[in-house]
Amino acid sequence: MSADPTAPISPGPGAGEPLIELDGTSKTYRSGELEVAALQPTTLRIDAGEYVAIMGPSGSGKSTLMNVLGCLDVATAGRYRLAGADVGSLSEEELAEIRNRRIGFVFQQFNLLASMPAWRNVELPLCYAGVPRAERRERALAALDRVGLADRGEHRPGELSGGQQQRVAVARALVTEPALLLADEPTGNLDSRATADVLGLLAELHDAGRTIVLITHEDDVAAAASRVVRLHDGQVVSDGPSADREGGGAHRLGKVPS
Ligand code: ADP
Ligand code: MG
Repeated sequence: MSADPTAPISPGPGAGEPLIELDGTSKTYRSGELEVAALQPTTLRIDAGEYVAIMGPSGSGKSTLMNVLGCLDVATAGRYRLAGADVGSLSEEELAEIRNRRIGFVFQQFNLLASMPAWRNVELPLCYAGVPRAERRERALAALDRVGLADRGEHRPGELSGGQQQRVAVARALVTEPALLLADEPTGNLDSRATADVLGLLAELHDAGRTIVLITHEDDVAAAASRVVRLHDGQVVSDGPSADREGGGAHRLGKVPS
């Protein structure tokens, strides 16, 4: 162990500076003789402070792209720079630290531990980061408060609705104050009201300066983002302002001062 897990990390790039830079990045899965080119060589830049939706039909490579962006999986070829660091050259330990401290993850299936109350689920990333116990509980409860679940901290996931469970997962994703939030079909299992709640939370986090990458195959969910990247057969087939911002193009210029 070289890095001190409790040491402060650098704040990362400021708004309008590149956070994610893919340069000819691809991912091929091999199982025995079979090769699946899940992500074709892709060049893509996402700046700090952007809110980007990744869209595409099932099997088009959305989760593969998210796994690469989230350092959950390593690209087969090409380069991936995150906050200026060449991810391909990092050690397992450095990658684990990035996943834990720079990135918050939200998944379709919530991925909560059923045996633990909500607040224990939320504090888990802080345990991995070596934060002292009293501070963990305080920050977990603050994160639950932020997602509107201050009174549900002692409830186990099975005692919460799907929408509430996903809000617990969002609290867990933001408890480490990560710069980047990656959400893979976060509303895929939610009804329209819970979907609106979760999208409202993501919008608040974006307003607070987080970079958000939201994977969805629903147009009305993607409309919450300002930019939409569409995948087909592992390839980016379009990249531009979301339907709501048509003609805006603000993402290319960074945030427009108001
Ligand atoms: P999406 O999230 O858009 O549905 P995925 O990224 O999950 O798409 O999958 C893209 C392609 O890669 C699909 O053909 C899928 O079957 C394949 N794939 C995904 N993960 C693996 C894996 N671990 N091993 C082999 N093939 C995979
Ligand atoms: Mg997927």
